[in-house]
Amino acid sequence: MSQEFRDDRILVAGEWRKGRGAPIASRFAAEDVENTVLTGASEADVDDAVARAAQAQADPAWQMLKAHERAAHLYRIAEGIAADIERIAWVQSRDTSKTLTETRALATSAAATFRYFGAVLETSDEVLTVPRGDYQTTSVHDPLGVVAAITPWNSPIASDAQKVAPALAAGNAVVLKPASWSPLVSLELARIIEEAGLPAGLFSVLPGSGRAVGNRLVAHPDIAKVSFTGGTATGRHLAKAAAEKLMPVALELGGKSPTIVFADCDTDLAIAGILFGIFSSSGQSCIAGSRLFVQRAIYDSFVPRLVAATRALRLGHPFEPSTQVSSLVHPDHRSEVEGYVAAGIAEGGRVLTGGARPGDADLARGAYYAPTILEGLDNASRICREEIFGPVLVVMPFEDEADVIAQANDNSYGLACGIWSRDYPKSWRIGRAIRAGTVWINTYKQFSIATPFGGDGDSGIGREKGRAGLRAYQRQKSVYTDLSGRPHPWARWPADG
Ligand code: NAD
Repeated sequence: MSQEFRDDRILVAGEWRKGRGAPIASRFAAEDVENTVLTGASEADVDDAVARAAQAQADPAWQMLKAHERAAHLYRIAEGIAADIERIAWVQSRDTSKTLTETRALATSAAATFRYFGAVLETSDEVLTVPRGDYQTTSVHDPLGVVAAITPWNSPIASDAQKVAPALAAGNAVVLKPASWSPLVSLELARIIEEAGLPAGLFSVLPGSGRAVGNRLVAHPDIAKVSFTGGTATGRHLAKAAAEKLMPVALELGGKSPTIVFADCDTDLAIAGILFGIFSSSGQSCIAGSRLFVQRAIYDSFVPRLVAATRALRLGHPFEPSTQVSSLVHPDHRSEVEGYVAAGIAEGGRVLTGGARPGDADLARGAYYAPTILEGLDNASRICREEIFGPVLVVMPFEDEADVIAQANDNSYGLACGIWSRDYPKSWRIGRAIRAGTVWINTYKQFSIATPFGGDGDSGIGREKGRAGLRAYQRQKSVYTDLSGRPHPWARWPADG
């Protein structure tokens, strides 16, 4: 596996070339070193990429492919990713400081996503609907055209794949804009897709700022849909821009997910799941279980055990196999996390563990932050309302079902929820009552590409994954075909008929 960074070119409109926008530096925050500097895309690059994409999308060489032939492209891309897991994982770990263990898993899931949407495409039937006359009615699905995919820095290869795979399977072209902090892995995906033989121009990757590249993409008249994963403020801005064009937009946004621990739970299962739910990926996860509600009857025994387990987590370098919690993505992001912890303390929060950078000299250069637990805060406090996107958990007691449903739902987000209890009917009841796109019962942060994912409220609009994930990138068309062979009687024509 090569551990070199490639040159500074990006894939625009079917060719590798230097972008005409501002340079973009990729940094390895775990060691505070620069990885490489790319030439970012400009607005002119956006225009080139979209024009070429529209041409490639409309080309019969792509349009006339049968479903199984288009699926073959996705299978080849999946194989290309699977054959290059180590390289992709290394690049993504250098770009984001995530552990290699995690980035290997993300790359593996990206391969599975392409394979899955190839299979969905091959097995998706068009339906004959029920007619009310002497005609046949069919509902068919056509591609949208050119899709813009805009992704965040936290899990780029996986979030790229969740958009690019269904969009290509559906017969579209895709222009992908990765986040400025993590441009490299999307360019590796571009290389793999090119090597897999996708027709030139169907896929471009345009690293660049949201303000220049993102805004131009979204406003471009030939972009037919924007599929976005990122923060709620950006999502709201994109939804307004999409409204101007009456363009569909899919928004996977932030979260402030509740985890609920009932007195009747298996406490060891719960502790392991809570640790994974908030501290894996150093908490830089949209579905992080960042508000923890513990039933008062076990609060005083449960919380000290959770704190002890948190102190035992291994904080370390992302390339060290035993590391559980790595560096944050960027020193600026760590400063934001620190600001939130300070706000929690100012509102009366008590730090039970963490609340500081680790003392370890080996980690001093990186953007590390110790896994942190606070208590003594109300669910209305600022750090219970706003997404921190870091390794910070707030723990609060609750009395009974009604109390915890009210507290958990008293938040503008609606992404995920965890429930720990041995009482299955109760867990089901609570899960149905909580506003969240995903509920985990006695587990957390598990994913299947076959299971729809998305959020409600400030967590977004629409669902990705699952069989319907393909339909999200198509337009539906109903076709009526006469079977009678008779002229319409209203016309009374031909006159002697
Ligand atoms: P962000 O909103 O700052 O950026 C996301 C992407 O949008 C980046 O590519 C960015 O350059 C681009 N962008 C920014 N301004 C834009 C504009 N005006 N027009 C077009 N594009 C623009 O988010 P981030 O900091 O990169 O990522 C963290 C956020 O992503 C968190 O809120 C997290 O919860 C969310 N997220 C959600 C999910 C989910 O599936 N719900 C998954 C992962 C991350």
